[in-house]
Amino acid sequence: GAAVAQGGSVTADTNPEVREVKLLLNLSGSEDLAAMGETIAESDGVGLLRTEFLFLDRADAPSVTEQADLYERVLRAFPGRRVVIRTLDAGSDKPLAFLPRTDGDAEPNPALGVRGIRLSRVYESLLDDQLAALAEAFDRTYGDVDLWVMAPMIATVEEAEWFARKARAYGLPNVGVMIETPAAALCAREILDVVDFASIGTNDLTQYVMAADRCNSAVSGLLDPANPAVMRLIAMVGAAVRETGKPVGVCGEAAGDPRIAPKLVEMGVTSLSVAPARLSALRRSLARLSAE
Ligand code: PEP
Ligand code: MG
Repeated sequence: GAAVAQGGSVTADTNPEVREVKLLLNLSGSEDLAAMGETIAESDGVGLLRTEFLFLDRADAPSVTEQADLYERVLRAFPGRRVVIRTLDAGSDKPLAFLPRTDGDAEPNPALGVRGIRLSRVYESLLDDQLAALAEAFDRTYGDVDLWVMAPMIATVEEAEWFARKARAYGLPNVGVMIETPAAALCAREILDVVDFASIGTNDLTQYVMAADRCNSAVSGLLDPANPAVMRLIAMVGAAVRETGKPVGVCGEAAGDPRIAPKLVEMGVTSLSVAPARLSALRRSLARLSAE
């Protein structure tokens, strides 16, 4: 059957029913959005706003207002479109100067330690401030944007439930989690039952599946998301996507890899989120493939 590229998205007919795959941007929050007009216009929105940048290199946490101002700026750059914002993913490869648990020396195995949502449970007020800032930024846009909020480093259904309950209490409309641990991928079905959406982080998923530190160049040869072990886990998540009908994207580097992206779409993922510099090439390569 035929498939057409339209705007940022690509319509794929790898399933019996033709479906649209959204092409989204990974942002770090430090981009000059005004200079990104064309890339923004070509995208379906943001698939991952990493919020760590607001917290790095400072002596204390940013205030609710400071955060809300930044989130509002990003939301306003994508009117009518989806913007997925990830709550703070500190710890491990993303240490924070003002949090002693994340200073890099505090834990023998920081990648397996208190990072992501685990840190949010130790410093719960940090997460509360961030959720309050997200809700405030969303209110300021009067619903003119499709805001989705997700938490990193989920390993259990209970963590997903905990986060979803908290975020919904702030009135946030779409609440999801990252699937980037093998445990979360294996329990994707149960996790999707308690959230509105998920996003597969292939960078960490590959690190944890292959037991190879993403910060250690001596094992970088093992860090290939195309490894069948990683792809099989993603296929399991894809099965859960089909069962639940909930949106699940990929926001790790693999989403922008032309060898891997078509397989991800085939497995059932509903969006691909990539660095701004990779968006055009990804759209062209997917459009060519679906045309063939
Ligand atoms: C990932 O782990 O794939 C991901 C998208 O998050 P980060 O690279 O920020 O850990
Ligand atoms: Mg990650």
